[in-house]
Amino acid sequence: MYVHLIRHDNAIFCHCLGSMEIECSQCQALHWIEEKVAGSVLFPIFSTCCANGKIKLPTVNQPPEPLFLLLTREDSRSYNF
Ligand SMILES: [Zn+2]
Repeated sequence: MYVHLIRHDNAIFCHCLGSMEIECSQCQALHWIEEKVAGSVLFPIFSTCCANGKIKLPTVNQPPEPLFLLLTREDSRSYNF
């Protein structure tokens, strides 16, 4: 949940975007619902990630072993990596 406090004229306003949990159906990037293309209400369309499927990035290969372990382990060394 993203909440941003805005201070204006000695008053504090709360701006809440909700959770960033809406998945682009094309690339599975996560968005806030307010990022959808205007008018795409029932099935939200997003243009800021993959331009609604027009941009396709190659899949990422698994990194070499020392880096892979640092990225996937949950020990203190990996945590601070
Ligand atoms: Zn996308």
